[in-house]
Amino acid sequence: MAAGGLLAGNVNVAKASVKSASGVNRAKNFGLQIYSLTVRNGQEFTNDVPGGLKRVAQMGYTSLELAGYSVEGKVGAVPIAEFKKYADDAGLVISSSHVNPPVREYTKENIEKAKEFWKTVCEHHAKMGCKYVIIPGQPSTRSTEEVAAVGEGFNEMGKISKAAGLQFAFHNHSGEFQRVVPGGTEPVRAGGGFGRLPEGAKMIYDGMIEATDPSLVQFEMDVYWTVMGAQDPVAYMKKYANRIRVLHIKDVAILGESGMMNFQKIFETAYANGIANFFVELEGFSVGTQFEGVQGCADYLLMAPFVR
Ligand code: MG
Repeated sequence: MAAGGLLAGNVNVAKASVKSASGVNRAKNFGLQIYSLTVRNGQEFTNDVPGGLKRVAQMGYTSLELAGYSVEGKVGAVPIAEFKKYADDAGLVISSSHVNPPVREYTKENIEKAKEFWKTVCEHHAKMGCKYVIIPGQPSTRSTEEVAAVGEGFNEMGKISKAAGLQFAFHNHSGEFQRVVPGGTEPVRAGGGFGRLPEGAKMIYDGMIEATDPSLVQFEMDVYWTVMGAQDPVAYMKKYANRIRVLHIKDVAILGESGMMNFQKIFETAYANGIANFFVELEGFSVGTQFEGVQGCADYLLMAPFVR
C-alpha cells in the first residue's frame, strides 16, 4: 500500500504510511542535503541512486536539497530527468539545490558571466520542479565595496530565478560572520589593547542581507556554521525574519549529540517565522557509514517533540 502511495506521488499517503520499526510517526517535515551521502564513501549512494533515495525516504525525510548539479544537466553522473524520476519514485520532493556560479569576485564582467550561467541553472531546475536555487560558497567579500558588489550580483541572479519561477538564496559558513571595512583587503579583527574594531567595520552577513532586494534574495541559514562564527542563529532569525527562510540543520556530526546546538529554540523560532524548509546536513562522519549518520539525524528529529 505504501508503494502505491509513493508511486501516485501522494505525499500525505506516503508520509502517513511510513513508520519506523518502533512505530515512530514519520509524518514530519524535514529534508536532506544530498551532500550528506556523497561526501564520504559516496559510492554507497552513487552506485545505486534510486535505491539510496528510497532508503532516505524510509528514514523519514520528505524532501531533498541537491548538491553536485552541473550545467551539462546532471546531478553527479545522473541526468536531471532521471534524477527527478528517482526522487518521484521514492516519494521525495526536490525542493532546493546548491549551485556555485563560476565566479568568486563580483566584478561587472563576472556578474554578466554569472547571469548567463544562472539562466541555464534555472532552466534545468525548473524542469525538476525545484523551488530554491542556492549559492553555498562564500564569494569574495574582503571589503565593504566587495560585499555591495556581491549584493548586486545576487540581485541579478535573483531576478533571473524569479522570472523562472524559482527563489534565489545564499547559504553561509562561518566566514560571513567576520567584519570588513571600506577599502579593506581582508576581514578585520578587534585589535589593540582595548579590543576595539576599526571604524566602519561591518559583519559580512548583515551587509549581504542589506545589499540585497528582499523580493529577490533570501537566505538559507546554516545554524551550525552560524554558531561556529560565534553568532546566535535564533537572534539572526528574529532580526531578519523575512530574509532567513530556509535552514540547514547541522551539528558537529549526528544531530543533538554535541550538546552545543539549541535545536528546540531554533525550531520554535523557525515555526514562529513560518519557515517550512529544513535540510539536514552531515559532513564526513567517522563513526559509521554516511547512511547510518543520516539515519541517526532523522531519528533525532523524529523523536524530538519540538519538531513538527
Ligand atoms: Mg550547510
